[in-house]
Amino acid sequence: MQKNNLIGCDIEWLEDYISNIGADKRYAIKLLRWVYRKRIFDLGLINDIPRALLDEIAKNFDVGLFYPSEILAGNDGSVKYLYQNDKNMLFESVLMRAEKRNTLCVSSQSGCRMCCKFCMTGSIGFKGNLTSRDILNQLLAIPKSKEVNRIVIMGMGEPLDNSDEVLSAIRILTADWGCAFGKTNITLSSVGIIDELKRFLDAPPCNLAISLHSPFRDERSDLMPIEKSNPIKEVVNLIKNNPLPKPLRVSFEYVALSGVNLSSNHAMAIAEMLKGIPCHLNIIPWNSHESAKFKTPKDEELQLFIAQLNSLGVLTTIRKSMANEIGAACGQMAGRKKST
Ligand code: SAH
Repeated sequence: MQKNNLIGCDIEWLEDYISNIGADKRYAIKLLRWVYRKRIFDLGLINDIPRALLDEIAKNFDVGLFYPSEILAGNDGSVKYLYQNDKNMLFESVLMRAEKRNTLCVSSQSGCRMCCKFCMTGSIGFKGNLTSRDILNQLLAIPKSKEVNRIVIMGMGEPLDNSDEVLSAIRILTADWGCAFGKTNITLSSVGIIDELKRFLDAPPCNLAISLHSPFRDERSDLMPIEKSNPIKEVVNLIKNNPLPKPLRVSFEYVALSGVNLSSNHAMAIAEMLKGIPCHLNIIPWNSHESAKFKTPKDEELQLFIAQLNSLGVLTTIRKSMANEIGAACGQMAGRKKST
């Protein structure tokens, strides 16, 4: 019989299971804390749950942890992990360090269906949705797991194209009985899928980042096919009308493509579009890869664009590129084995 996994398991479900086998359901919280909080994955080490109950649970549950199949360390201290799940899907995460911040960038799908022109993940096609277990495992399976204090759901895939599993993973990450992450320490990045975004904004579980990339419909449709069915204008209006409760934050991402989307017309249209939304624009100089022919802007072009945005009142930040040489910067994740 196929066993269930504790990783990915929600409290109510485990409480019901434990009640149904005639034990005290309060053991569910204890058990999940060992796994999600203490990161102990050997049931034999648990010392505050009766052994008979643990043995019974072990008949039906595996912990469900799986280790990376490849680990690649970058020169800047970042580390890329490649995983293969039980359905043979490949996916990656990247750990980045900066002073007190240890940020883990996790994947929500293997591959992606969005086909953004500038992104490498899109170019490998779509292999499948990750489960909440696959998503949580990316945090739990790494050696410095307990030092991670920020999670960005910006790896492979479009999280709102896999909302059920992603939202369930965020619930476990932020729950007191789960990993107990602060909601403000998690950011979900999306192209903006309207129906799913409505669901997210109904009860926002974490910060939100929206991939803007162009304020012009024709150009954005060309760069990001999702624009055709889910126009950014509607996405922005939705956010304007359903602001995230403080201290949660919304930001917009903007991949800087030399000679494409950095003109003063772009700056003006962006300022107009974001007027009235407390947010910042996070500029990501394009990370090159062999699947697309864009150019990374030189400093001068980028600084001029930023100065224009600032003079129009748009707060900007630049996302420092990390893990470039190990193919793990934004938009470079292809989920490939070194050997293939
Ligand atoms: N599917 C999510 C997460 C994508 S990765 C989303 O689209 O928001 C996080 C950010 O990196 C997105 O804004 C994405 O558009 C951007 N990105 C993709 N490829 C890139 C590249 N080659 N260089 C820089 N940024 C890139």
